[in-house]
Amino acid sequence: MPDVVSKKVRSRMMAGIGSKHTKPEVALRKLLHRAGFRFRLHRSDLPGRPDLVMAKHATAIFVHGCFWHRHTGCRFCYVPASNQEFWRAKFSANMDRDSASEQALMRNGWRVVVVWECATREERTNPGRLLDRFSRWLRSGRRRGYIGARVRKHSARPSTTKRNKNRPDH
Ligand SMILES: [Zn+2]
Repeated sequence: MPDVVSKKVRSRMMAGIGSKHTKPEVALRKLLHRAGFRFRLHRSDLPGRPDLVMAKHATAIFVHGCFWHRHTGCRFCYVPASNQEFWRAKFSANMDRDSASEQALMRNGWRVVVVWECATREERTNPGRLLDRFSRWLRSGRRRGYIGARVRKHSARPSTTKRNKNRPDH
């Protein structure tokens, strides 16, 4: 197969982040728009260029892929069997970047919510749950939120502060 994507595009694909208009993102947009929410997309003047921004609610929304952004406990958050060193470094860099963006936004008075890809997928089998959780978070006044599908156990919250450096490699 010929090399049809440029180096820049490829590295962006490999990074798995910064890609606009992903399927989960479009799904969330439709859902929120239908519910009457209004937002702007990919405001590059804000840290991390949030996928959706609701200025009225001072809220920045990131729609994160569970694999690339490491949704702890989620079935999509696995480590590929080969090149584990490479993947761990990549994941670690992604999480650091996410964490820095979120902190910077919150310092500037924004509320930040991460909607995990699995929550948008779950919409097919459990319609309404995502919007319900989002609305509840919005009303709660909490600065930060995470919305994911049900995970095996414990919370859907990724450990962005602890890097799990001491976790054994298995
Ligand atoms: Zn997930």
